[in-house]
Amino acid sequence: MNEDAAEACLARYAARPDRTRGRRHPEPPPAMRTEYQRDRDRIVHSNAFRRLVYKTQVFVNHEGDLYRTRITHSLEVAQIARTIARALRLNETLTEAICLAHDLGHTPFGHAGQDALNQCMRAYGGFEHNLQSLRVVDELEERYAEFPGLNLTFECREGILKHCSPANARLLGDVGARFLRREQPGMEAQLANVADEIAYNSHDVDDGVRAGLVTVEELCSVTAFARQHQAVTAQHPGLPERRLMHEITRRMINHVVTDLVRNTTECLVDANPQSIDAVRACPTTLVGASGDVQAEQLELKRFLRERVYRHYRVTRMTTKARLVVQQLFEAFMSDLSLLPTEHCEAARRTETQAGEPGRARVVADYIAGMTDRYALLEHRRLFEPGERT
Ligand code: MG
Repeated sequence: MNEDAAEACLARYAARPDRTRGRRHPEPPPAMRTEYQRDRDRIVHSNAFRRLVYKTQVFVNHEGDLYRTRITHSLEVAQIARTIARALRLNETLTEAICLAHDLGHTPFGHAGQDALNQCMRAYGGFEHNLQSLRVVDELEERYAEFPGLNLTFECREGILKHCSPANARLLGDVGARFLRREQPGMEAQLANVADEIAYNSHDVDDGVRAGLVTVEELCSVTAFARQHQAVTAQHPGLPERRLMHEITRRMINHVVTDLVRNTTECLVDANPQSIDAVRACPTTLVGASGDVQAEQLELKRFLRERVYRHYRVTRMTTKARLVVQQLFEAFMSDLSLLPTEHCEAARRTETQAGEPGRARVVADYIAGMTDRYALLEHRRLFEPGERT
């Protein structure tokens, strides 16, 4: 089925490219693609997307080639979400575009990098990675003659901005308004958000075992894992660990996805939204797993937080990462001339317009855009006397 045909059998509550709220800078419609195909293609061609190859999910990029990075994470999220989108007759292309863009604003070194940068930016309006993803697609990408950024549709931008503080929402115009009115985003945006969680909960289990941070036996204390472990070992006794793990994680994803489609279908019957605007006006989100599965996911998340994300080997790595980000920020803030020329000029320009917060924002943009290995290299260039500059 081609993408236009797929869009012809969309549900009433799905996003429709012919009824988009449009782009910030009006453009003629694409000749051979839908508006959302154009969004997705622009995201894949962006610099920020390519950089995701070398950005961390949980493990620092150089630790091993098999761990998830931001790009493989984004692709897994998109793949899970597309399956669900099709089952619910949502707009698959828009869903894919949102998923591929959802982590574009992530700093190097995963959440440790984001927390460190937020700390550094505290006096200057803070740093939120969701907001930064929007900033990347609205302002920072430099690819088109007629406008800054990628000039994506409203629906795609709405999906990228998953969370936002009220203070920032007020500065964002149309795409920030729902946080102030307490409205929901469209179904595709809700789906991308849920698929993100499904993806990292399952792949962090897999990566955690591969890294030797947790064992299969320990994971059997988690209901969602134990259920599939029992089913697989009963069906295939003596399976080697690698195949056992992959079979379990695959079944865990399938279990949540199946439950999610069933539960969301029931929510849709109750709410009966007749359009994407009716979805937005609902008091709560409509895409979600059943209460039982949500409770199991929470149990899994808690296990991962305690046993994987807070494992001493991960903590050592994140402590180093935080230090790198802090020291880079401090060095650039105290002396702009350490920045590469174009970033230095941008910082001086913004400082004249917006004072010190403007200067800090350009420094934060520069650091946030770095890959893990580039941040480490910049750190060596600035702080190790023997390193080439
Ligand atoms: Mg993510």
